[in-house]
Amino acid sequence: MQIKCTQCGADVTVQQDETFIECPFCASALFLDKRKVVFHYLLNSNFKPNEAEGNLKRWMAGNHTVKDLDQKAQIVKTEFYYFPVWYFKTQDSSGDKIYLQPAASTSVSEIKKLQIPAGALKFYDKTIHNDDEIKKPDVLYDSAQAWLQGSGVSLDSVKEAALVHIPFYQFYYNFGGQSYTALVEASSGQVYSNIYPAKSEAPFRILFGLSIAAFVITSILCYVIGFALNSGDMEEALLTAEVFKIFAFGLVSVPLIVMAYVIAKKV
Ligand SMILES: [Zn+2]
Repeated sequence: MQIKCTQCGADVTVQQDETFIECPFCASALFLDKRKVVFHYLLNSNFKPNEAEGNLKRWMAGNHTVKDLDQKAQIVKTEFYYFPVWYFKTQDSSGDKIYLQPAASTSVSEIKKLQIPAGALKFYDKTIHNDDEIKKPDVLYDSAQAWLQGSGVSLDSVKEAALVHIPFYQFYYNFGGQSYTALVEASSGQVYSNIYPAKSEAPFRILFGLSIAAFVITSILCYVIGFALNSGDMEEALLTAEVFKIFAFGLVSVPLIVMAYVIAKKV
């Protein structure tokens, strides 16, 4: 079978079932999906396993995850693989845009939000990458294109389409009797996770409600005191209340700030 090279336009002969192709004329890596030929790229890994784990631990120590997750989580398994994504570069009056769609099934939907730095894409070279680490694409180009159209992108604006292999460390960890997974993208070091032991927001919501109640009650008390001290003189009463409020609000905010601090430390 003959295909046309996306880069140089030369006719390239491919064998039956051959999907990973290198153009013998211009050395471009190509990917063949049914009859569709697209560029074939790979993003290099810049992180060693221990460095990727370091990034995961820093993310775990961050503010959105439950307190001390970095120390309490037990990492049970780590995998390294290149995950395939369909890459569409579109161009219209507003400029270039990049759309990504997973080319294999994944539970981590954040993969679509991945940022691929310009110039980071290298042609796929089957001689330097370990075949076991390359996850095979099982989402067809046509489905990815249908998804792109479905999200309101005109196919006429697609300037470049490619299959890109993105390096990931997948960490499996246990916390509080539950199993979780997190991905570290090994080109940028960015951590991706859908489900993780999150910090509970309930105590903060309760504190917020409590704060509003405290300030309302304090205001009322100040007016009561103002009128009690200046019976008959409306203007004086209101003025006294305002002066009291300045000090009273300051006093009330002290325990609230302390409580917020204690909650932030504990949760
Ligand atoms: Zn070529």
